[in-house]
Amino acid sequence: MHLKDIPALAELKEQLIRSATSNRNGHALLFHGSSAALIFPLVKAYCQFLACEYPTENDSCGHCSHCIQLKQNSYPDLHYSFPFANKDKAPKSLNADYFMREWLDFIKERNFFGLNDWLDHAALTGKSALINVHEVRRINEKLNYKSYGGGKKFVIIYLPEYLNISASNKFLKTLEEPSDNSMIFLVSEKPENLLQTITSRCQKVYVPPLKNADIEQFLMSQGVDNETSKISASLANGSILEGLQISKNNQSYIGYAQLFQNWMRGCYSAKTREIFTFVDEFAKLGKDQQREALQFFMDTIELSLKAVTKQESANHPLFTQIGFKLGGFASVLHFQNSKEAYEVLSNANHDLRRNGNVKLIMSDVSFKFSNLLRMKA
Ligand SMILES: [Zn+2]
Repeated sequence: MHLKDIPALAELKEQLIRSATSNRNGHALLFHGSSAALIFPLVKAYCQFLACEYPTENDSCGHCSHCIQLKQNSYPDLHYSFPFANKDKAPKSLNADYFMREWLDFIKERNFFGLNDWLDHAALTGKSALINVHEVRRINEKLNYKSYGGGKKFVIIYLPEYLNISASNKFLKTLEEPSDNSMIFLVSEKPENLLQTITSRCQKVYVPPLKNADIEQFLMSQGVDNETSKISASLANGSILEGLQISKNNQSYIGYAQLFQNWMRGCYSAKTREIFTFVDEFAKLGKDQQREALQFFMDTIELSLKAVTKQESANHPLFTQIGFKLGGFASVLHFQNSKEAYEVLSNANHDLRRNGNVKLIMSDVSFKFSNLLRMKA
């Protein structure tokens, strides 16, 4: 993984390169931001830059023996740690070694991923994942070995917020007694969930979310067509992972936008038949799609409200594509009713997750919406 394979973040990359060339890196770096899907590959690319035998001014060379080993995931001085869960027949003192082959295959296959993607891959879907004390013991062993190549050893800990309490305490000792010539990289989405004594011993690197335009460009670089890239980026909330998922799923989103359009028309004019048509169509969606659609509806309300409060014209490529005038919808929104509409939807989301009756929940939401949309500011 090269630094240039990570979209945008030009300033941060420069800063990282400067720290490396001027030897200002500490032995533990806490990379944090809203999306580990972006941070993890960035850290991987940075390790490659640090390990590269002939780095250029701004990236690893890609040809030296270290770069090649890193590309093949066989560089002996780079170690990974990550959350996992118990499995039948797993040894009692289970650590990440048990899942290592799956992990290496997984990260070779996918550059950008979320925790659930990893858990699905490891057949640990729905299990509560953690990093336990046996795993920290394993990391310590890795740190205490001599490096194979005589250079630096790297440990990347993906989502250290999953360290349980005994593991955290043990890991704290690791940080207190750094071993020579090794570097620990923490990739965290929730550094506030780490022990303060851990974070205070790390050099912090903030990875900002991407801008819509960066995600759009990235998606195009992955072969996604222009229109889909634009739509997906606008819905991705700054997350590269969401951008990728939505781009694969673009047709569903067009469907959600159409559903939303018909639904809002039905609610606004209080036409019971149109409302029930919506409820039926919504109920036909799969569980995951229902959640996705609800999230999309909430994002749309937020977007429309932003347009109202900032007095911009409400526009969205997805709605432009289906010919729905979002501005018309936004004109019936004001602070009070849109706040309540958002709450109504997020309660519905909560109830759906608890396996409530879809038709009942969505009918109830519709009638509440019908009142809200006709409420005066
Ligand atoms: Zn190289």
